[in-house]
Amino acid sequence: MLNRFSLATLGLIFSLAASQAAQPVVIAHRGASGYLPEHTLEAKALAHAMGADFLEQDLVLTKDDVPIVMHDIQLETISDVATKFPDRKRADGHYYALDFSLAEIKLLQAHERVNLKTGQAVYPGRFPLGKSSFQIPTLEEELQLIAGLNKSRGRNVGIYPEMKQPAWHRKQGHDLSKIVLPILRRYGYATKKDECWVQCFEWDEVKRIRAELGWEGRLLLLLGPTSRNPDGSDSSRWFTAEGLREAAKYADGVGPALNSIVSGKSKADRQVTDFVKNAHAAGLAVHPYTLRADDLPKIVDSMDDALSLLFTEAKIDGLFSDFPDLAVQWRDKNASR
Ligand code: CA
Repeated sequence: MLNRFSLATLGLIFSLAASQAAQPVVIAHRGASGYLPEHTLEAKALAHAMGADFLEQDLVLTKDDVPIVMHDIQLETISDVATKFPDRKRADGHYYALDFSLAEIKLLQAHERVNLKTGQAVYPGRFPLGKSSFQIPTLEEELQLIAGLNKSRGRNVGIYPEMKQPAWHRKQGHDLSKIVLPILRRYGYATKKDECWVQCFEWDEVKRIRAELGWEGRLLLLLGPTSRNPDGSDSSRWFTAEGLREAAKYADGVGPALNSIVSGKSKADRQVTDFVKNAHAAGLAVHPYTLRADDLPKIVDSMDDALSLLFTEAKIDGLFSDFPDLAVQWRDKNASR
């Protein structure tokens, strides 16, 4: 007869088996950004239609404390701000979203990301620069779009909001996480059962989101592409089994760059690192970034090769991609891993 202990043990074994058998999730990185300007509602609608499991929202604040969906804290690489508001740059030459009201930001046209030095698109094969008409959406506009599409398409596509540079925001007198979390809860994202992952590169903020701001939903610590985070802080501690156990005290998952998962300079010498194994041992899900069909890492020779390597060999739990359609198609075709 099974006693209470062995029942609990069995339950644990079953849930571990279930989580390991679960298919990896596909996260549309800035929407279907391989096909439409990043973080526009159009890019999110397309990703929804392509079957992505999660749609990503990078979040920054406006002057009037409205969370908007864009990747940088500055506006000039993805909008015509320099043309519409030439006098509004700071001494460092940048146009900060935080210096503009939402009404002003709504006057801007959003476009494909440009290289400011050349004036050319960063990814020239993508949606043509300056064509059609796009806006920078608010978080709430996007949550309403996703809820609407989930209803009309009978789906439950999740959200994946990222707090962008929360320490910088706070230094400027604006508290990004404190404003965003209540909005998420109001739209039904509050617990780990809800289809939502909150992500952030800043460990102090991850701890704060959990411990001080009381976030009970899923939380992911992003890790810089090498041992450096975007804010300049050292992230090398997270690439050890011990560091990952520390991360697991607050986070449910980690988001490293692809080269933390597979190392090497070419297909011939590529090698799956210990990272996923160590993260899984610490109870963390692994969702690396970012797979782009038009900018593949040198260690793979095709999108299929990359997907097979990441999903089957490295056994990741989710993937950020600008091309969610290709990742979903590959995953569904190769259902058992
Ligand atoms: Ca992001």
